Amino acid sequence: MTRQTKIVATLGPATTTESALQAIVEAGVDVVRMNLSHGDHDEHRERARLLREAARNAGRVVGMLCDLQGPKIRIEQFARGSAELEEGAAFFLDPAFDGAAGTAEGVGVAYKGLPEDVNAGDILLLADGLVRLRVERIEGTRIHTRVETGGMLSDRKGINRLGGGLSVRALTDKDRNDIKLAAELEADYVAVSFPRDGADLDEARELLRGAGGHGGVVAKIERHEAVESLGEIMDAADAVMIARGDLAVEIGDAELPGVQKRIMRMARERDCVVITATQMMQSMVDSPMPTRAEVLDVANAVLDGTDAVMLSEETAVGQYPAETVAAMARVCVGAEAYADESRPTDVARRSPHFDRIDEAIAKTAITAANTLGVKAIAAMTESGATTMWMSRIGTDIPIYALSEQPRTRTKITLYRGVHPISFDPTMREHEAVNREAVEELTRRGVASGDDLVLITKGDLAGVRGGTNAMKVVRVNEIL
Ligand code: PEP
Repeated sequence: MTRQTKIVATLGPATTTESALQAIVEAGVDVVRMNLSHGDHDEHRERARLLREAARNAGRVVGMLCDLQGPKIRIEQFARGSAELEEGAAFFLDPAFDGAAGTAEGVGVAYKGLPEDVNAGDILLLADGLVRLRVERIEGTRIHTRVETGGMLSDRKGINRLGGGLSVRALTDKDRNDIKLAAELEADYVAVSFPRDGADLDEARELLRGAGGHGGVVAKIERHEAVESLGEIMDAADAVMIARGDLAVEIGDAELPGVQKRIMRMARERDCVVITATQMMQSMVDSPMPTRAEVLDVANAVLDGTDAVMLSEETAVGQYPAETVAAMARVCVGAEAYADESRPTDVARRSPHFDRIDEAIAKTAITAANTLGVKAIAAMTESGATTMWMSRIGTDIPIYALSEQPRTRTKITLYRGVHPISFDPTMREHEAVNREAVEELTRRGVASGDDLVLITKGDLAGVRGGTNAMKVVRVNEIL
């Protein structure tokens, strides 16, 4: 069975060499994530080159997502690299304090606006929530806190406020510069870290277009405010990433499962693609097999309708990157076999009216395909939009995106159940194009004999948004 759920893998020291990249691509990676929080531009250029070579060698289409660092608020450094914070002790955070002189009494902070953003009684969570501080008072630039949960704190650890509300802007100067790199690398997606609302996504898209980039924009949902503005964010973004690491710190881990499910439901209704991320197979950083809980986490995301599942440290610094991808692929296929039991198969949409002909064709095509039991869908597409709309509806029927546009073929690597095929539909009779499309599917062993194939296309091939027709053909009658 062809896997429907896509796998995003983060590159890092464990996946820098040509052979390591080749191994994860062959194991099933659909999209690689370049984490721009680490490494310089030349390193990313070299990785991008090696990745494209590996994809070519493996005969696979692999997309690329550049993930911006964003305004993660961090403490500065300790004089000794770290300090042990005792429960009940006083501890200060101060942007005016010497950035290299932290001790168990206090430490510098990189974000100058922090003292204005916090109030007495606030809970600050450091190092992904391992250390918990309660704000007692603010004097000038100094935030005096009491340690509620102690622990070891080392240089440059992140700071979150429980409940969110820090006013720092989403795009930093570094991000603006990194967007130019994403454009140069012809990334298929740029992920914006810590967006608060739709305007943050609009700004990133404008900057990307200004730099000549064609990619889609991914909103990482990791702030409390983003959960409050999900609809607006989904309307402004091409995809959302459930960035469970920071999100869990801001909203509390008890809220996380419900919010994850809400994001998936809303994404389907709003034609937004969704990636489920962080710690999905964390134990495989140093173990060759996942825990049962990790298997269930990946499977539940698949059953809830995620487009993609993402690996972070597992492929960036783990000991078993290719084994992790293979295990994830196996679990996805296993869960997909049960997807019908839990996934809605009807047209989930906010509005019952279609404004666009192509969207109406795409969504009703899935209803027809599900009802008729067709073997495969061949969508002739310029931009890939038809296949994105199709993939918002639950179906086991594979959707093939037949496109002559290389950028479309790499973009759709993120869409659940959609597979790219290089195909030029122009300058030929409709009959001949239909026949060639079906021939292509039979060559791949997707359909044969009596099987039905559903084709969508436009009268004017090669025109964006031009899909206006649907045709169902029987393989042995057309060939
Ligand atoms: C996360 O916080 O879960 C996440 C995906 O973001 P990052 O890896 O950039 O911290």
